[in-house]
Amino acid sequence: MPTDPTLLPILLVPDLRLRAKARPVGQGDADAVRALAPRMLASMYKAPGIGLAAPQVGELLRLVVVDLQPEDKPAPLVLVNPEIVAASTELATREEGCLSLPGQYADVTRPARVKLRYLDLEGAKREIEAEGLLATCLQHEVDHLNGVLFVDHISALKRNMLLRKLAKELKARGWE
Ligand SMILES: [Zn+2]
Repeated sequence: MPTDPTLLPILLVPDLRLRAKARPVGQGDADAVRALAPRMLASMYKAPGIGLAAPQVGELLRLVVVDLQPEDKPAPLVLVNPEIVAASTELATREEGCLSLPGQYADVTRPARVKLRYLDLEGAKREIEAEGLLATCLQHEVDHLNGVLFVDHISALKRNMLLRKLAKELKARGWE
């Protein structure tokens, strides 16, 4: 368990909350989301990771934090109710990992470029166009809001191998 009270425990597969569809953030969630976002960022940096979705900390809300830390400097991005509104037909394959499947990696093929609409923490409408690692990361995080994990994009054979390996490793670490 984290000792820093601002840090949130990150749920691991096979926690069923990772498979639930998160609900949109509404007006009444504004305070909760403003409190949650910095804690999610802190937990993501600590892990360390480059993206974290609210369902990974047990909050079934459409909220995502991302930071690729270009040039090793923090550049946090908080996306409320993110929606992919356009995706390129061109695909890109990149190795992905996930804080909810520690130590597991696989090549995943997704659209190379995406456009997202979202709200910022002040509720202002925003749009972002992404390519490269950011495009992969944003698609991975939006998947989490729909209960989808990166292993759902690979073959059943590879997925089962990876999930068995994860279960074994977590058991060995006493996280059964
Ligand atoms: Zn993930």
